[in-house]
Amino acid sequence: MTERAAFDQVAAQMTAHGWSISRQREGDEVRIEGTHADGAAVMATARLKAKGWEMRYYVIGNGSSHWVRVRRDGLVNFLESGELAPTAQTWPVMHSKCSCRKQYAPTQARALRALEEARRRHLRKGSEKVEERVYRCPADARRWHMTAKTAWNGRETWAEVKA
Ligand SMILES: [Zn+2]
Repeated sequence: MTERAAFDQVAAQMTAHGWSISRQREGDEVRIEGTHADGAAVMATARLKAKGWEMRYYVIGNGSSHWVRVRRDGLVNFLESGELAPTAQTWPVMHSKCSCRKQYAPTQARALRALEEARRRHLRKGSEKVEERVYRCPADARRWHMTAKTAWNGRETWAEVKA
């Protein structure tokens, strides 16, 4: 099996192990995201480069605040067990193109939880601005921000695709 075919198979493996998946694409880049009810998340990206497809796999555990990059076998293992094997090779995700200077959460589920808390605080105190919704950082797919703006006025570049 080619690496590209193995990448596509990752989505089926996510579903088989109870992860909710979302596939998105923009131009020559494809992204598959999986979220687990316990708060863990995974992401696989495939980008068409001059020399062929470049695949990347990322995971973030339920109790972890940082994404790590793993090999595909590390991701598959994570999908099955919900945690990284002690022997798995990992690369911490250190760099971000996000320059929003805003607080961020590493997953949509956690951003939504933070939004709920912010809205409860607002109800108690009444003084803070009301945070309205969460959105993915336009510069970093692994960051989510909150905003008080109700409407999205930018362009949605990544389109959701059906499997
Ligand atoms: Zn940002």
